[in-house]
Amino acid sequence: MNKEKSSNIADAIKQWVRPEIRALKAYHVPSATDCIKLDAMENPYQWPESMVDEWLGLVKDVELNRYPDPSASLLKDSLRQSMSVPAGADILLGNGSDELIQMVLMAVAGQEQTVLSVDPSFVMYDMVATYTGMHYVSVPLNDDFSLDVAAFLAAIDKHKPAIIFIAYPNNPTGNLFERADLQKIIDAAPGVIVIDEAYHAFASDSFMDEAGQVENLLVMRTVSKMGLAGLRLGLLAGKTEWLNEFDKVRLPYNLNVLTQATAQFALQHQSVLDAQTETICKNRELLFTALSEIPGLQVYPSQANFILFRTRKGEASAIFDKLKEAGVLIKNLSPVGGTLSDCLRVTVGMPEENSAFLKALGQALE
Ligand SMILES: *Cc1c(COP(=O)(O)O)cnc(C)c1O
Repeated sequence: MNKEKSSNIADAIKQWVRPEIRALKAYHVPSATDCIKLDAMENPYQWPESMVDEWLGLVKDVELNRYPDPSASLLKDSLRQSMSVPAGADILLGNGSDELIQMVLMAVAGQEQTVLSVDPSFVMYDMVATYTGMHYVSVPLNDDFSLDVAAFLAAIDKHKPAIIFIAYPNNPTGNLFERADLQKIIDAAPGVIVIDEAYHAFASDSFMDEAGQVENLLVMRTVSKMGLAGLRLGLLAGKTEWLNEFDKVRLPYNLNVLTQATAQFALQHQSVLDAQTETICKNRELLFTALSEIPGLQVYPSQANFILFRTRKGEASAIFDKLKEAGVLIKNLSPVGGTLSDCLRVTVGMPEENSAFLKALGQALE
């Protein structure tokens, strides 16, 4: 009886679920209870107790029985200021920047349309292209993870992409590409180019100044990496005409009342977040130096809140496992293969977490 049922389900799934979805593996997030969590680019710092108390007082009055403000207008004003969005640019908010990627691709989707990015880069560009039935093409980065601009321009010419995503700084490599190269890509892009600045808070450059001025340029930001990953809030800045189209596929109440109230509160205390970001950047430099001194590791400079490093050939997965056994969770990128073979990525944590990681790494390398 049971067996018959399950085979019916299997048949039904085969009949009704799109083949490209059946072929996917669900986005896997490893559980991380009771360990030092340095795998997900989170800000490790909490708010000061007085700030938490003030926030609790505010949350007490949030009306959970009411739908949220569909336009999140107060929050938009705070974000414009916090993210230095130019007056000539409009903004669109998403439930995390992941949702913005989804909205952009839903608005342009079509089997013959191409999404173009680089490889390796943020996995959601590829995933969401698949969800929306689009064709995904990525141009390999050079061995040092710099951008191969000639190859990228050739790919633009060949595929005429509807949408280009460039993470700046790039994830999982941590570097900024040459600004002049990106300028060439912006000029050559036939459709829209989204510069994904998820790590802007830790980086020395940004394209935000040009949002709203350059016709086909959109700049994407998130509050996730600056200490508010739990809220799920991202923004896209650019020309009103584009954003109006993308807004049509946004679900009406995509930002819940608690996110709106909390984000606005947090942005009123921006100096707390900024101080944490500054500390993380200092800790990144210390961690970079310490890693660079370990024989056998190749460590890549980072403008983000994580560091990518390469182990000796064939050793990454064993090192990752030993770290995990020692209670330190980082990200193993080696299974991805290609230029990421033998690569591990560690998020910059608190000094004591970074020390525990370095100690466990030293032991794993013995
Ligand atoms: C983390 C990350 C995001 C996702 O941000 P959310 O706002 O948390 O959805 C987007 N782009 C890049 C490059 C990232 O690393």
